[in-house]
Amino acid sequence: MEITREEIVVAMKGFVNADNVVTDREVLEDATHDRFRKYEGYNKVFTNPLPAAVVFVDNREQVSEILRYCNAKKINVVPRTGHSATEGGLETIVRNSIVLDGSNMNKIIDIDPINMQATAECGVVLEDLENACRKLGLTTGHSPQSKPIAMMGGLVATRSIGQFSTMYGGMEDMLAGVETVFPDGTICDIKAVPRRAAGPDIRHVVLGNEGTTNFITKVTVKLWKYYPEFHECLGFTLDKMEDGLKIMREVMVEGYRPSVARLYDAEDGKEHFSHFAPGKCVLLFVTEGPKLISHATAEGIREIMSNHPECTPVETKLIETWFANLNWDASRIEEERKEVLETDIVCCTTEISSPWGSVEDIYQTCVERVTNEIPDLTIFGAHASHCYSNGINLYFVYWYKVVDCKPEEEITKYHLPIKKIICEETIKAGGSMCHHHGVGKHRVHWIDQEHGSALYMVKKIKEAFDPNGIMNIGTILPYNGKK
Ligand SMILES: Cc1cc2nc3c(=O)[nH]c(=O)nc-3n(C[C@H](O)[C@H](O)[C@H](O)COP(=O)(O)OP(=O)(O)OC[C@H]3O[C@@H](n4cnc5c(N)ncnc54)[C@H](O)[C@@H]3O)c2cc1C
Repeated sequence: MEITREEIVVAMKGFVNADNVVTDREVLEDATHDRFRKYEGYNKVFTNPLPAAVVFVDNREQVSEILRYCNAKKINVVPRTGHSATEGGLETIVRNSIVLDGSNMNKIIDIDPINMQATAECGVVLEDLENACRKLGLTTGHSPQSKPIAMMGGLVATRSIGQFSTMYGGMEDMLAGVETVFPDGTICDIKAVPRRAAGPDIRHVVLGNEGTTNFITKVTVKLWKYYPEFHECLGFTLDKMEDGLKIMREVMVEGYRPSVARLYDAEDGKEHFSHFAPGKCVLLFVTEGPKLISHATAEGIREIMSNHPECTPVETKLIETWFANLNWDASRIEEERKEVLETDIVCCTTEISSPWGSVEDIYQTCVERVTNEIPDLTIFGAHASHCYSNGINLYFVYWYKVVDCKPEEEITKYHLPIKKIICEETIKAGGSMCHHHGVGKHRVHWIDQEHGSALYMVKKIKEAFDPNGIMNIGTILPYNGKK
């Protein structure tokens, strides 16, 4: 017989302090969704089943006991830390789930300036870790826009990436070691070493698992010296996105590694640069590192830019001020909530990656198709913000006014049809439908096209580590069972 909500709550109180098993209606409603359903949430409409409880854990042993219990009783577990997910990874799509929240595990365990690595529990907010490192003249190099909210567990689980990625890489480049717990209760501590070739790289079973196979409890990341005094910033306006993409490729292929390389099209730029670059694309670079490296990188980019008369330099102060205010915290989310409720205009995003050879096509096709096929758009644009020697990402940003539909119809009328165009066009052109926000529960429709023959491996990993299918049902792989 199916276990009841009440039985689940009683059991959870046996594993953690009773105060840490929260069943208040408002908390449960908030736990049914993430920012993918922000329009529904802001309108107080909740379409997913309420979880039985949100359970706050204090240590890895509690995580282990709870997972073992849920595994035996076949209870769906949705891991959570910072609650900043954007793709539905936190949605509780089956009845009587529990949301397992690691945000109380918020101790910075060690900052080691000799071995240049920092270890933190899964619930440490990245900004807190970064601030503690900067006091010692060090940096993690990680700076997602959600840095004031996102926590170490979620950042690893989503394979996150930050604004300085062109120099420091993504989470896969930063993660030195990690401790995690599997559904059968096994605790695995992957030691932090500079590199090893002792079999498969098992960090990758943890990285990007989106809570579908294991619950991350502790994270060790690499550190770098922080030299803010040597940062140099370069900004330009130009007319065509295609020209900007070509320049970004040139900078990367010539061998330069600025920490930031970003290009906004005029539509996306409206939200950011209309005070000094209306109707223009904006291209910007930040260089960092020790004085000589930062300066040489900036000089190299200046030399490249001197051969591009289609670009006009802008006052760097304008770019620096804009960049310093880019991150989101709880107050920005509250402002957004008020604005959405007043205007019914919502902003959503889809980020993809592409080889250099296809990026212009993907950009053009998506702009053309979305603007022709989707009603009520107020803005559809994109920026590129993460560069590699073999390609780049595109971050599509779309604003639409929700008209003639209930809050719960917003996703099927607007958000998913837009995502479908972007994901399908990207995969068709040889890119990846997902650059850094994770698959969540709303890109699962294209997971087979995304992976092709390699989907076999994705399924086998899930089957091996979560044979009873209790971890974050419907995330990464679709769920076709009873809700
Ligand atoms: C304004 C804004 C800006 C953003 N900017 C960026 C950006 O620049 N770069 C970027 O990469 N992302 C960005 N994001 C997305 C989001 O912040 C990242 O995906 C982040 O890594 C999520 O961390 P979190 O702690 O909030 O995780 P949560 O939202 O709590 O969870 C995210 C996913 O990870 C799983 N998970 C959480 N904790 C654990 C755990 N301990 N063990 C196993 N699984 C777990 C969840 O089940 C879920 O699937 C942004 C989001 C917002 C709202």
